[in-house]
Parts: sequence; C-alpha cells; structure tokens
Amino acid sequence: MCKIIAVANQKGGVAKTTSVRNMAYSLGELGKRVLAVDFDPQSNLTASFSEENKILKTTIADVMTKAMDEEALPNRGEYIYTHGKINFMPSSIHLSVVEANLRMEMGSEKLLSNILEPLREEYDFILIDTNPSLGPLTINALSAADSVIIPINPEFYATMGLTDLTKTILKIRKRINPDIQFEGILMTMCDMQTNLHKEVCLEVTEAYGNGMKIFKVQIPRSIRVGEANRYGMSVVDFDKKSKAGLAYDEVAKELIAYGN
Ligand code: ADP
Ligand code: MG
Repeated sequence: MCKIIAVANQKGGVAKTTSVRNMAYSLGELGKRVLAVDFDPQSNLTASFSEENKILKTTIADVMTKAMDEEALPNRGEYIYTHGKINFMPSSIHLSVVEANLRMEMGSEKLLSNILEPLREEYDFILIDTNPSLGPLTINALSAADSVIIPINPEFYATMGLTDLTKTILKIRKRINPDIQFEGILMTMCDMQTNLHKEVCLEVTEAYGNGMKIFKVQIPRSIRVGEANRYGMSVVDFDKKSKAGLAYDEVAKELIAYGN
C-alpha cells in the first residue's frame, strides 16, 4: 500500500526540502520504493537530485499545465527521473506561473492528486515537498496527501503560524480530502543543549502532543546537512556517521513502523 505524504509548513527554512531529500534516501535504503515530488517553484529539491547544469526537460509544471488544460499527460518516463534508488519528479520556476493560473481555475485543488493517484501501485511512499505558503500549490499537495509531516525549527517563532497550518489542514479534510491525517511534527535543526530549543520542544509537545504524533527522534543541527545539500547528496550518504543523517534513518523507520 502506497502512502502519499506532504511535508508542509508555510514558514521557509524549517527543513522541508532537506527532510524530503533525506527521508527519501533512507526509505530507499530500507528497500522501499520512493517517489519524491518537488512541488516548489524554487526547485531546491530538484537541484539536490540533479547534476549541475543538467537540463530536465519535462517538469511537474508542464504536467500540471497539461492537467489544467484537460490535455493528455506526457509519458511517465518523461517527467519521472531516477537518482540512485529514488525516483523524483522535478520542479522548475514555471511552477510559479502554474500557481498564478491555479488561483483563477475552478475546482483545481485535485489536479496534483489526479497526477499521483495512478502512480500508487508503483511506490510505497510518495513524498511531496511544498513551497512556503498556504497558497494553491500547498492546497493541491495537501489534497493529494494521505498524511502530512510538519517540520518545525525550534526557534522562538516556531509555533506561530502552526495554528493557521492546522486550520488549513482541517478545512481540507472537511471540504476536499476527508482522509488526510497528521503524520506528525518533526523537530528539525535542534540543538538540545540550548534552553530555548528545550523550551520550544516542550511547548510544542504540550500544545500539540495530545492530538498529534510528534516524532520521537529530533533532527540535530549539523554542518554536514548544508555540505551534503551542496554536493547533491543525502546526509547519511555524505557522512555515514553524521548524527543528522542517522536521525533521518530513524524517521524513515518510524514512518515504516507507523504504516498506513
Ligand atoms: P525549507 O525547505 O523548509 O525552506 P531547507 O530544507 O531548504 O528548508 O533548509 C533551510 C536551510 O537550513 C538550508 O540551508 C539547509 O541546508 C539548512 N538545514 C536544514 N536542516 C539542517 C540541519 N539539521 N542542520 C543544519 N542545517 C540544516
Ligand atoms: Mg524548500
């Protein structure tokens, strides 16, 4: 059974892309069939998968445009690429044009869902990286997803905006996607030596721990993450002993254990 997971938080810089990249890698290493979907016009995830300057001809922007125009979609082979054991669907800056068009299109929330549904048989996990907003792209991602992971960077403003995000998810559950679940909150870039991070983690657990799973493992802040991103690698692949990489392995195991 395939699980489609959106990784969402309208705040930028909370490690959405990094989490998708590394969870995809770890799930792949654990023998799962994984598709990572870049659904952010900034295309950071795409950059982390593709060799420099390599031009990816067809992206999710083209597929979304076809879907919006009710045209036949390209062959899967044209927009699903391979990197090691992972498949990925790249994005491009043109996805921002798609976003603008989605605002004017009626009933367009399910377009991404319609693209991903037929792929369920081929994957165990489909991970969607989203852009930092609660606009039509994120709505499409949440409408396509079985569950959502919310990465949080435990800084002072971390929990601000979390209410808007959970409200949006509950609205989507009511109006578009009745089965969407909260997969959990993932603490990223943690430095548990600092009181601030300890306090914020405690605050989040107190505020949300009753209704929502909070991943047991926290992702430590590590210089290795940025370095790995720069070389288009996952953290574990870049440095087998990196604590951040090993933490993402644990997240992948939790995801598998949690199942459907
Ligand atoms: P988002 O997709 O939410 O905007 P990113 O995944 O792009 O966030 O991460 C934002 C920045 O933080 C990037 O420069 C990334 O390399 C860095 N980063 C992410 N996770 C960690 C970590 N565990 N330790 C150190 N830096 C991290
Ligand atoms: Mg990102």
